Amino acid sequence: MHNDIQEVLISEEEIQAKIRELGSKLSAEYEGRNPLVICVLKGAFIFMADLVKTITVPLELDFMAVSSYGASTKSSGVVKIIKDLDVSVEGRDVLIVEDIIDSGLTLSHLIEMLQNRKAKSVAVCTLFDKPARRTVDLQADYTGFVLPDAFVVGYGLDYAEHYRNLPYIGILKPEIYSK
Ligand code: 5GP
Ligand code: MG
Ligand code: MG
Repeated sequence: MHNDIQEVLISEEEIQAKIRELGSKLSAEYEGRNPLVICVLKGAFIFMADLVKTITVPLELDFMAVSSYGASTKSSGVVKIIKDLDVSVEGRDVLIVEDIIDSGLTLSHLIEMLQNRKAKSVAVCTLFDKPARRTVDLQADYTGFVLPDAFVVGYGLDYAEHYRNLPYIGILKPEIYSK
């Protein structure tokens, strides 16, 4: 375990098993539909890579980068598009792949934007969900794990751009924040 981690909440094995489950659900749901799978950078990049390997239907990928947090641990409520999609979503079955839903602000903004761009359908697959902290009415169509109200890192998720490479999800030691 990394020296800055106080506790591992979900192990690498548990994450990989859950992703295989999500992948088979999505493969059944999108049979014959050629979905456009959108990764919300940076946090979802590892989940996206592992997830699409478990989906058996033909699909296309694109990437988008949005920011609502900066180096803080709380949402500012301001969602900024840092990198937009390369392709049009008009008439497409879009599947948004997210790392974690917290307040829900980032995602509700994204969904609205994709609907305005005339996507045929917009669904959300998130690996982690913290429903206790929601400020907008929003639920993912596919959820991996429901988490308690704590700031987690690993498996794509960062604190000040660190810890994204950890293969598990954990909680940082309190002294890391006061550095
Ligand atoms: P929301 O807009 O739902 O409040 O926040 C969504 C984004 O905030 C996530 O995609 C993620 O980048 C970041 N975020 C939310 N909760 C956590 C957390 O517990 N740990 C980390 N590292 N990032 C989080
Ligand atoms: Mg995210
Ligand atoms: Mg972050």
